[in-house]
Amino acid sequence: MTPGRALILAPHADDEAIGCGALIARKAAAGAEVVIVIASDGRAAKRADEIGGDELARVRRREAIEAAAALGLPPEAVRFLEFEDSKLDQNRGPLLEAIRRVAADVQPDEIYSPHSDQHADHRTLSEVARVAFKGGPAHFFEYPIRYWVRVPWVQPQPGRVKALIHLVVDPIREWRRPRAVLVRTGEYRERKLDALAVYAGEMANVGHFVYEFADTEYEAFFPL
Ligand SMILES: [Zn+2]
Repeated sequence: MTPGRALILAPHADDEAIGCGALIARKAAAGAEVVIVIASDGRAAKRADEIGGDELARVRRREAIEAAAALGLPPEAVRFLEFEDSKLDQNRGPLLEAIRRVAADVQPDEIYSPHSDQHADHRTLSEVARVAFKGGPAHFFEYPIRYWVRVPWVQPQPGRVKALIHLVVDPIREWRRPRAVLVRTGEYRERKLDALAVYAGEMANVGHFVYEFADTEYEAFFPL
């Protein structure tokens, strides 16, 4: 990893901590500029049943800033695009425009974007970011969020035949991808756990897996 200016794209507040927490903390400690972009307003998560979407959006905004602080970043390092949660797919054009605008402002040396998985928002931001940034000039990486449990090579497909074909073709395509760059969590593992703890309300919904797969010796990034 180079110590350059980094732009972290997160579909929801918490994805950045799950996938890149230690990387962010490591860069912040090294004095590198890091900007986190949260694409959705987070209003559709499960807690909305209890406190309502508007309030939840406010809570998650606050949590994102708190989690960033745990990783060593100031509040202004977090930018909110505020697209409606779970509806990124319906806002592809404006989303593309918005992330291009942020990148033009930040001028990142490295861009970290979510690896596609079965969450529609994750998939959408992943695809839109590829359109915007694949091929440079910034180094472009994808980070897994639910990769380990929601295996991305089994994308939902309409129809059994198509599903079967993808069951064969997708793993081969996945296997052909460049090897992941591994970044040691090391002394930044605690900070990552602190950031995840800020998101405890959300973590309760996604279950124990986060700690099994996020509290690890390395974070993985796929170069594109
Ligand atoms: Zn997410």
